[in-house]
Amino acid sequence: MTADNINLVNHPLIQHKLTLMRECDCSTKGFRELLNEIGMLLCYEVTRDLPLELVDIQTPVAPMKAPKIAGKKLTLAPILRAGVGFLDGMLALVPSARVAHIGLYRDPATLEAVEYYFKAPNDLSDRTVILMDPMLATGNSACAAATLLKARGAGDIRFVCLLAAPEGIAQFQKHHGDIPIWTAAIDERLNDHGYIVPGLGDAGDRMFGTK
Ligand code: URA
Repeated sequence: MTADNINLVNHPLIQHKLTLMRECDCSTKGFRELLNEIGMLLCYEVTRDLPLELVDIQTPVAPMKAPKIAGKKLTLAPILRAGVGFLDGMLALVPSARVAHIGLYRDPATLEAVEYYFKAPNDLSDRTVILMDPMLATGNSACAAATLLKARGAGDIRFVCLLAAPEGIAQFQKHHGDIPIWTAAIDERLNDHGYIVPGLGDAGDRMFGTK
């Protein structure tokens, strides 16, 4: 992790898959599959420092003390709708995780995040929450989602995205400097419509084929 709480995940598999996703001719099916695969790989990274404890087990050959994940349980929190693209990949690695759905849409005029749905486990204070959205653009949605989670007691939150704009990182860190970020790339900037440049377009539309 760098001093400013950002983990740039430059694993070749992730970088290769991200390039395939950026290309205009990536199909809806391909885009969704790649996002799912990258979700799995990012999950591997974001859980890298989870604490382990030694438990007594019996192998077919001998008893031993073997490591198991200890401590707080995980909650996966996708921001609807594009965040759902990471979910299956992450659940494949952590099948017992709980899921919090956070419905936010971006007001096209103001680019502000507007809440329309929130449903989460009620013991968020006892859980590590992995908040996820493929695109950290203005940072408004990520900030609003983190604020909602904190208001419900979450104290241990990690944010995972695919692409980040410098503007989004600055905004998120201004309001939630305590939350570390994992991203596969930091692009150049935002355009006048709040899209990441060069980016990959609208992640939700590309994932669900709605454009
Ligand atoms: N959301 C997207 O899906 N793409 C962007 O470039 C910015 C926000």
